[in-house]
Amino acid sequence: MIRIKFRSKLVLLATIPIVIAQLVTLLAVMRTVEVDVRARADESLTAGVTIISEYLKSRSEQLHTSVEVLSADFGLKQAAATGDAVTVRSALLNHGGRIGAHMALALDNDGNVIASTFDGFAEQSNEAKRLVAEVDEQGVATTAVIAGTTYQVFLEPLKAPVRIGWVVLGFRIDDPLVKQLSELTGLDVAVITRTVDATTVLASTGNAVGIDPVTAQALVDDSLLTRQFKFIDGDDVVTVLLQRSLQEAMLPYVDARRGLIFFGVLLVAIVAIVGTLFSTTISRPLSTLAVASQRLAAGHYDDNIRVQAGDEFDELAQTFNAMSSAISDRERRIMHQALHDRVTNLPNRYKTAQHLGACIDEAARDSDDIAVVSVRLIGMAQIASTLGHQASDTLIRLAAKQLRDNLPGDVFLGHFGANEFCLITTGHDTDAAHSFVETITTILSSGIHLDEVDVQLQASIGISAFPAHGDDADELLRFASIARTDAEEHKEPVRVYEIGREDEFVRRLRVVNDLKKAIDDGEVSVWFQPKLQLPDGTVHGTEALVRWHHPELGFLPPDEFIPAAEQAGTLMYLTRYVLAKAIKQVRVLADAGYDLQASVNLSVKDLTDEYLPYHVMQLLSEHDVAPERLTLEVTESSIMEDVARSVMVLDILRDIGVRISIDDFGTGHSSLGQLRNLPLHELKIDKCFVQSLADDARNEPIVRTTIELARDLGLEVVAEGVEDESTLRRLSELGCHQAQGYFISKPIPFPDLVKWLDQFEPAAYTERRGIERAFSA
Ligand code: C2E
Ligand code: CA
Ligand code: CA
Repeated sequence: MIRIKFRSKLVLLATIPIVIAQLVTLLAVMRTVEVDVRARADESLTAGVTIISEYLKSRSEQLHTSVEVLSADFGLKQAAATGDAVTVRSALLNHGGRIGAHMALALDNDGNVIASTFDGFAEQSNEAKRLVAEVDEQGVATTAVIAGTTYQVFLEPLKAPVRIGWVVLGFRIDDPLVKQLSELTGLDVAVITRTVDATTVLASTGNAVGIDPVTAQALVDDSLLTRQFKFIDGDDVVTVLLQRSLQEAMLPYVDARRGLIFFGVLLVAIVAIVGTLFSTTISRPLSTLAVASQRLAAGHYDDNIRVQAGDEFDELAQTFNAMSSAISDRERRIMHQALHDRVTNLPNRYKTAQHLGACIDEAARDSDDIAVVSVRLIGMAQIASTLGHQASDTLIRLAAKQLRDNLPGDVFLGHFGANEFCLITTGHDTDAAHSFVETITTILSSGIHLDEVDVQLQASIGISAFPAHGDDADELLRFASIARTDAEEHKEPVRVYEIGREDEFVRRLRVVNDLKKAIDDGEVSVWFQPKLQLPDGTVHGTEALVRWHHPELGFLPPDEFIPAAEQAGTLMYLTRYVLAKAIKQVRVLADAGYDLQASVNLSVKDLTDEYLPYHVMQLLSEHDVAPERLTLEVTESSIMEDVARSVMVLDILRDIGVRISIDDFGTGHSSLGQLRNLPLHELKIDKCFVQSLADDARNEPIVRTTIELARDLGLEVVAEGVEDESTLRRLSELGCHQAQGYFISKPIPFPDLVKWLDQFEPAAYTERRGIERAFSA
């Protein structure tokens, strides 16, 4: 398709109607003119016919009268009767000359020439005879041809008193005649004769264009108007032809037409020029808008177009400007949203990483240090669950503002995730970053006013640094987060990233993800560590300890994956698995004749699992194991996480009849008063006091008072981490009820435990040999 520019369309729009109007006018005028000219030509022909026929009639009458007068001339008659040719001739010349006749003849009755105005024309006698014969036959003769010239003739008898002959007068039918006729009428005139065989043009003005030379018929020509009539009344042979050429008639109008066309063209040209100028003015705002639209499409939103056309284009331009600024705003907003955190409006992770990347490039050039500080507010989850997410969002927003307002301007502050602030500061290494940490802590703890309550915020903080830990922005952000997570887990306010920690972190993530499947796939097993009854040295029971052989990561210590599983929420599967194995083991051993007790470790999360007691009950009844055969070990610190709930769960367990033991006793900060209120059966002295009991004199009072205290409270005491004989002996002396440790046995798989039990001989711990024998297997 041809593309016509708007401007050209406007020009066409203006010129096409003018051209059409001009053409229509021209055609109409020409048509009218032609009709008019034709009518006039017709009129002039009609007039011509009248004039010429009148003229010819009057000439005929004149001729007729003259010939009558001549025939009545007595002298002529006499001369003719006597054959006096000279007198006759003079009379002929005299009369003919008077009326301007071109010829005159005097004939006898047979048509012999008596006298004539010709000189010696032999032909005249023949023609004279024919004339006389014609008159005799037809009563009249109108034309004669003598010496090639046609004449209109009149014959009159000469009577004396009988007819003695004829006088003839004639006018030439020739070019001077038609010329005269033409001059009279302003028309083309021709005179023709028609006989049966041929048509002859006797005379004509011009070249008789409109007559066929063979047929002498008027040619059918639209540009030629023709009339014909009889030259002489009663004579069909000689015809006068009047013609008017329309072309000629039109001639005066040709100039007019030329003028008309010229002015038409001129008008169209003017309209085209004016239209072009006008359309340029009209279309300029449009081109401006078109260009602006193209720029807009290319992303240039800030061009403001100025159109002052004084019409709707102004409005269009304004609308366009409004639209582009709206798009620009939206784009800016989207860009802003893409780079900023929704809650705090601080730069998000992407923008933070971008900024850090730029800082790294610059610092690398200037050999400068950068500290990346990850800050997470503590207790936000509780705030969200008690006050709602909106409140926690508000709090985070206020904290962000507080930080931004109080931190030095050159410190970059970002926020991402649910609750992670990130500070970037150039010129600080990890040591210098510590002073920052203080600033941050002070800012946050200065109190934030939320719903008429002053909330003092605490934070866990992690630090990574360039170039100490790496030179990649994403990596450094991750390292700071890892350090902060470590700080959180260890309940420390701040930690600096340790090189290699990320691998552990990744490993831990995998561990967490893989645990549930590992249990199903049988990668996780439960080992057992025997416990001895003191002082008699019999086997009292076992502690179930979980083991995981990861197909790729190898042996994973429980201290590594249990906290991870606890965080990921998969711990309950593990606990149920271990409980099932331990309770089943009690049944199997009981069936084999070993009446032993089993201890299973619980974690913080287990203590808030209200279904746990029900589950334990089910397992016990399934394997037909008495509740008091099961001891559940819990640490003081895990109870303290959520005392109310833990005590509720432990109370139910106690009611079932299951024994409860405090694990790692001595490492926590719980007071004896608190312990008194717990539903306890057993205290387990932590291995750190027991391991070095023999070497470190400071430990003995602790162990001793713990044993005494437990006994006072009516609890059983277990010592773990017994690694040598002297420790075992000393524990027995101090009145400890049970002992567990490598000296007795390491944790072993169940089949090994069965073998171990089969070979075990209860021996007094004081008899060294006996004990050696007992554990030599
Ligand atoms: P724990 O409850 O204090 O378990 C005793 C830990 O001390 C065991 O480490 C055991 O192998 C080790 N041990 C035993 N005798 C000696 C000794 O004479 N000297 C030394 N140095 N260590 C000794 P393990 O098996 O690596 O378990 C570590 C911790 O993992 C356990 O500490 C317990 O808190 C947790 N844990 C183990 N299994 C489970 C489980 O099934 N459930 C839960 N919730 N926690 C478990
Ligand atoms: Ca334990
Ligand atoms: Ca322990």
